[in-house]
Amino acid sequence: MLLHPRVALERARVQRLRSRAGSVELAPAPSCCMCQRSTSLCPWLVLDDQVGAVCSLLLCPKHKPLLHQQNSVYNIQTLGFAMLHKLNRYRVSALEIKPENL
Ligand SMILES: [Zn+2]
Repeated sequence: MLLHPRVALERARVQRLRSRAGSVELAPAPSCCMCQRSTSLCPWLVLDDQVGAVCSLLLCPKHKPLLHQQNSVYNIQTLGFAMLHKLNRYRVSALEIKPENL
């Protein structure tokens, strides 16, 4: 059966697109470093004392420190304290604020 040239071209284009789509691997979506939420993320820079380097974290609104806490968050430990204080303040977490919980 002879195809109309337009139909043959369209089939070839669709086949080309399908073969490309099969070879594309999607990168994993960025998510919060504390939970798996992937929306409304905020980049956060903190010092990792053990490594001695600044690391970039993504935090969701639940785990992002409150505005008045942000100036006092400078390393991972103070970030953990700020998160625990925030979660305890809004009764989201049953964790008590203790250094060993961090
Ligand atoms: Zn989170």
